[in-house]
Parts: sequence; C-alpha cells; structure tokens
Amino acid sequence: MSCRKVICGFLTLLLFLSLFKSPTAFAMPQKAGVFKDYKRVAAVKYDTLSAQNMINNISDTNTNWTVKCRTYVSLRVKPAFKAKTILRIKSGEQVSLISFKGRFAKVSYEKGGKIYTGYILGIYMVLPDERSYKAELETVKPVFLYSYEQMLSDLETLSKKYPERLSICSVGRSEEGRELVLAVMGNPKAENKILIHAAIHAREYITTTLVMAQMDYMLSHENLLYSGTDISIGRLLDCTCFCILPMVNPDGVNIVQSRILPQMFKDKYSQKIASLWKANAKGIDLNANFDADWEDYAFHAANERGPYRYKGEAPECAAESKALADYMRKNKFSLTLSYHTTGSVIYSAYGDNTKINAKGRELAELICQQSGFNLNTQTKGSTAGFKDWAIEKCSTPSLTIEFATYKNPIDIQEFSNIWYRGRDIPIISAMWLLQSNNK
Ligand SMILES: [Zn+2]
Repeated sequence: MSCRKVICGFLTLLLFLSLFKSPTAFAMPQKAGVFKDYKRVAAVKYDTLSAQNMINNISDTNTNWTVKCRTYVSLRVKPAFKAKTILRIKSGEQVSLISFKGRFAKVSYEKGGKIYTGYILGIYMVLPDERSYKAELETVKPVFLYSYEQMLSDLETLSKKYPERLSICSVGRSEEGRELVLAVMGNPKAENKILIHAAIHAREYITTTLVMAQMDYMLSHENLLYSGTDISIGRLLDCTCFCILPMVNPDGVNIVQSRILPQMFKDKYSQKIASLWKANAKGIDLNANFDADWEDYAFHAANERGPYRYKGEAPECAAESKALADYMRKNKFSLTLSYHTTGSVIYSAYGDNTKINAKGRELAELICQQSGFNLNTQTKGSTAGFKDWAIEKCSTPSLTIEFATYKNPIDIQEFSNIWYRGRDIPIISAMWLLQSNNK
C-alpha cells in the first residue's frame, strides 16, 4: 500500500516535530453498556434488533455521579433553563442518574432523609474516576487540548496494533497543507459503509477525541457481545467498513488550540476570538459550504470571511469541504454521521426525500433512546451543511449528532458525559445496517 507508506513517513516526521503536552487528569465511565463482558453474557441467537436491547446503557444505570461546578447547580422541575428550582445541589455532592434528556439529566438527590427528583444540566455531572472512560481506553487519552499531532500519533499506534483492522490514508490537504487523514476501520470490502467525520467546526474539536476513543474502544473490545445477541464487536467490524475523518478542519482546530489568528485576520479581529473559531483558516464555515440550497444559507450568516457562519463564495470553494465531498462522491456509503457539539440533539432529515429521511429517523430514534439526545426531524431549517447535501444530493441517510451542551470549546470535564452517552453510536449504527440488510 504505497499510500500507507507515504502517510506513515509523514506521520513519523510529524511525531518528531511535534511537542506533546503531557495529558492532564481525566475522568471516565465504566458502565454497563450495550456491550457486556463476553464471559458474563450467554450467547443468544440473533433474531431481530429491538430498541429494547439497545438501551441498557441508560436503563441499567441508576449510577452515582458527582456534581462538579463552581458552587452549586439548580435541581429543576423540568428539563428547561427557565423551569422552577426545587433546591440547589453543592459541588462535590452525589446524585443518582435516572436518565438523560437533551442537555439535562434526570436525577434523584438525597438530603435530610428525603429524596428529591428533578433535572440538572448534564455538563455538571461527572462519573467517579474508578468508573471512568480511562478503564475502557488503551491508546487514546482524552485531554482538553487533544491536537492534530496527538491524533496522528494515536492513529499510528492503533494502526500498528491492529494492522488487520485499521489502515490510514489521506483524502487531501487543508488550506494550510495539513493532510486530511482518513482511517479505514473494519472490513474495507464490506457492503455496509459508514462515513463518520468530526471537527468540521474548529472549536468542536472534542468530537475528534470522541471518535478516536470510539475507534480505540471497538478495536480493543472485539469480544464484547451486543446486548441480547451473539453478535460481537469483532463480527460487526467484519461486516462493516467505517471510513472515519477524525479532523476535517485541522487548521481551524490549530487556531482554537494555539489561540493564534491567521495573519489575514490579525488586524480585523481581536485575539480573543481565536478560542471561538469555527471556520477554516481562510475564514469559511465548512459546514455552510456544501451544495444543498447553499444560496439560501441565511440564518445568522456572516457577509465576509471570519470566525463563523461565512458560507464562502461558492459551494465547496474551501479545500476541506471539497475533499470531503469528493471522497463522498467516489464511494457508495450506507450512512453518514457528522459529529458536532452544541445542544445534545440529533438532526436526521433534510429536504423532500421522504424515504431517506425515514431511514435516518429510524436510526436516530434508536440512538436517542440509548443516549437521551433530543431528536429533530425538521426537513427545513439551516441549509448548506454536509448532512443536508449528503441526504439531498447523494441520497444517503445522514445524521448530524450534537454531543454536548452549549459552551465551546467543551471542557474535558464534560467528556465523561459525552462518552457515557455516545460511546456506542458507531456500534449501534453498524448493527442497524446489519439488521436492515436482513429484513
Ligand atoms: Zn458544529
């Protein structure tokens, strides 16, 4: 594989050139998930996939979480910012998780011998260290500034560790010349092909950490069985090709993490905007740069290049969106997943293709049941995004998944919550495709 050789050399060079920051402490979930310990699960004949056998992750729980915030959080009667407050819970206290609902978590809290039930913002919930994601990951270390260089290093480690399961390549270069790295995981010849991309929006780079962690988890837990079935993760890897672009906008991520603006914007914008940068290095919002009613892109749209919401002079005029669209056109994908951060919601539809929208909704409902994300099935709304284009122009079921609450960039504290709710999404998606084929 000449492509692989070239990339390996390039990765090695980058490794030498890169200064790695030592990982800061991170917390994570050892939960009962969709997959249970191989030894503890009796093999059950696979028949039909039901929502019921996929929601163990949340329904099994009733786990204790620690509230971590500046002083206290409000326990509210409903999952809404304006809902009435029942009482305040101090930082460091324990709550028991009942379920997630959008940005909120339904919890019970004991005080003075009385149990109160209500909703708190999920961002303030942290699993204790001993049950954290740390126990489930071998290679990827989630840290706040998970960088492009760290991603390359982890991809190289994973591809050496699992050469039969993972290969790396490139689909093009960013505006500043960084390779747009593609990881092909599972069976490259499989009919079921899932495209996953992350960090198309710069400040949402925690989605890179998430997809890298998901790869690490799947590759290192091949023997785990899907709840209620005899299908292992290994079997899903045998019958699925995961094509993963963990960082579509590496230049933008570099702006956010280094807090240095590109030269062309230094006179125009305050340095402070760097940490909120969403666009690529040329000031184009890549997720507004696709050919799906691009002319109509208007919601909060910017008129010129800058940190966010400028759609470009034409669809795919940015190197990164063009590379992603070209790659999509060259392949026949069964499904695409776009990883974003804001809102704990899944967008599953776009335009008039009712058949494709119905398929996307079916999968999104399964994921929402397991994760507690809200579901948005509106076919109109924001335009010119990758998901919109993939549904409308490529007739491919496509979801935009917003994993976190609302502040960007996402603090690493929230990774505990993101992992807990999102760990199994590629697995559920592969299982859903397998089941769809057997219908
Ligand atoms: Zn986004």
